[in-house]
Amino acid sequence: MDVQKVLKEINTDVRAQIGEFEGRVADYIPALACAPEDGFAMAVYDINGNVFEVGDISTTYTIQSISKILTLTLALQRYGDSLWARVGKEPSGTAFNSLTQLEFEKGIPRNPFINAGALATCDALYSRLSAPTFHMLETFRKLSGNGRISINTDVARSEFEHGHRNAAMAYLMKSFSNFDNNVEDVLKAYFSFCAIEMNTRELARSFGFLANRGRDIHSGDIIIDAKQNSQLNSLLFTSGLYDASGDFAYRVGMPGKSGVGGAIVAFVPDRFSVAVWSPKLNKYGNSSAGLYALEQFADRLSLQLF
Ligand code: GLN
Repeated sequence: MDVQKVLKEINTDVRAQIGEFEGRVADYIPALACAPEDGFAMAVYDINGNVFEVGDISTTYTIQSISKILTLTLALQRYGDSLWARVGKEPSGTAFNSLTQLEFEKGIPRNPFINAGALATCDALYSRLSAPTFHMLETFRKLSGNGRISINTDVARSEFEHGHRNAAMAYLMKSFSNFDNNVEDVLKAYFSFCAIEMNTRELARSFGFLANRGRDIHSGDIIIDAKQNSQLNSLLFTSGLYDASGDFAYRVGMPGKSGVGGAIVAFVPDRFSVAVWSPKLNKYGNSSAGLYALEQFADRLSLQLF
């Protein structure tokens, strides 16, 4: 199977229609609005450590909601199944930043990949770490293989200044006794996690453990135990793309996670981690060209799990 050849074909295909993909760059966080509309990159890490890549591979961007995978990983390491008393495991069927369900369901978010669920998870993590942002950054530095990965402080600040919906969710959870720490402190940590910046190769490498039974591909270190890794993949399959998770499962057939920075990561267990980036988002907040590229990748290499 020639992965590099397939990536090259996808790149040519995507480039030819890059202006035609639906949607627009995220602008509800002002600092994200200047992302290049026609940017595109894709990288594949196989579990033997081989990397295949194409497009604007050295362009960096903030990983946004993709950080929620690592937030959950670090929280599961510390809390195990007791974490599920605070956050559910069901698809939400609502937008990633929706507030309504949280009120009806008494402050328990549907899953850890919508904003409310990630904030609750982040709050749990905050209670167990003395320097959560530093810990998260250090973990990404190790996983990505780049010790200089950093936080885009302009984006983090912009998110904090315009993060009223996220603040509303956190306060609503606090009113239901599902938020322990100071809201502003946890929001700052959450926005810093979202504003961690890297390129597409580093993104694919960082999450390689999800395709490798929970072990880092390069060091062999256990990032999460094999059973929890399998559970995490299952939850990504059902909820990783918010209220478009069904469409992603149908079109791409792999567990995945998107972020409003325009990146998506997806996993083929025991084979690959795949990352794609293109900043124009559809109405669900998922990269339009990224979805197309992943669908092509899955089709051309017959990678759908079912
Ligand atoms: N930082 C973003 C927010 O909280 C993350 C959302 C996303 O990537 N879907 O709104």
